[in-house]
Amino acid sequence: MSKTFKTIARYQYSAEAQIIKGRLEAEGIQVFLTDLVTIDTDPLVSNAIGGIKLKVLTEQAMKAQYILDSINKNAVDDHGNAVICPACESDNIALFSTINDAKSLFWFIFGVLFSALPLYTRHKYRCDHCKIEFDIK
Ligand SMILES: [Zn+2]
Repeated sequence: MSKTFKTIARYQYSAEAQIIKGRLEAEGIQVFLTDLVTIDTDPLVSNAIGGIKLKVLTEQAMKAQYILDSINKNAVDDHGNAVICPACESDNIALFSTINDAKSLFWFIFGVLFSALPLYTRHKYRCDHCKIEFDIK
C-alpha cells in the first residue's frame, strides 16, 4: 500500500504545532509538519502560506483527528472556567484565531509593511454543537 498523507490541522505558529505533534506522537502517530522552518524563519508569512500544516499518514488520520478533537474541545477562559455557548449552553467549544475581519487584516498588513510582530490576533470561539462563532468578554 502506498503511503499518502492527510493534513488534519493548520497552526499559525510553530510552538502550538510542536505541542500537538508531541501529543500525537505519544499516541504512536507519525506526524509531519510542513512549512515549519519557513514560518520559524519569518512568522509574518504564516497567514500568506496557510500556516504550518500538520500531516499524518492517511491510515492514521481518523485516530489522529479523534485525539485532536479531544484536545480542542472544552476551551477555557482566562480564569480557567469552561466557556459556554451563548446559544445552546454546550461546553463543547473550540478556540481558534482568525484574520477574517477587517481589523485583524489591517494589523496583518501593518505587520508585513513595517516588519512588526502581529500586534492583534483575533481569537474566537466556535461551538461544536450548533456551529456558531462568538467572542467572550
Ligand atoms: Zn452552541
